[in-house]
Amino acid sequence: MEGRPRILVIEDEPAIADTLLYALKTEGFAPEWSATGREGLAALEKGKFALVVLDVGLPDGSGFDFCKTIRRRSNVPVLFLTARNSELDRVLGLELGGDDYLVKPFSPRELTARVKAVLRRTGTAGAAVAASNASASLAPEPEWQVDDERCRISFRGRALELTRYEFRLLRVLVARPGRVFTREQLMSAAWEEPEASLDRTVDAHIKTLRAKVRAVVPDADPIQTHRGLGYSLREAGAAGP
Ligand code: CA
Repeated sequence: MEGRPRILVIEDEPAIADTLLYALKTEGFAPEWSATGREGLAALEKGKFALVVLDVGLPDGSGFDFCKTIRRRSNVPVLFLTARNSELDRVLGLELGGDDYLVKPFSPRELTARVKAVLRRTGTAGAAVAASNASASLAPEPEWQVDDERCRISFRGRALELTRYEFRLLRVLVARPGRVFTREQLMSAAWEEPEASLDRTVDAHIKTLRAKVRAVVPDADPIQTHRGLGYSLREAGAAGP
């Protein structure tokens, strides 16, 4: 286990924790488990961790509050686990200091993909993650491919039939997987004159984009809706079963 990035999992449900620990171990991390927030804070005081996976609903308090306490002492990246979509507004809207989130239920693969993405983004444990990513060489081509010259985008190797605005809208999402864009941001990024095209709503184009993606890969749903916020593209590796 030496040299492997240490991940602290603060999660009160043993079954979920077991799954998380197993998935993280398999992916080359050295995970440790705390069943309460207090236990987790104690573990953080004792040792150094590359990342904390933090459940929002803990028996001795809210994960949000524990995150604030963690932030006062350390910059360790925090990945929230939330049970309800309704908690997302808090995760995304407030300055809680979290780095990413997952809504339960999620697949172990989704979790490890997010952990790696956060570590890559925050630059912690880079070398160790790169080493454990050796299996990434097995990965085929990227999920999304953009051909700017031909205004074409392919999903899993299949070209999508896109109009000009659909192309520009999807291009914005593909450039920043995982990032949530508000409708206003998407409008101004994809439309030359946002005010002049009020009738071309983002929602309508997202709808046709989803249909076009389904036309080439029927079970795929790579565009996520964040209610009251906007849209994002699922990060690579987090999509699919
Ligand atoms: Ca819980």
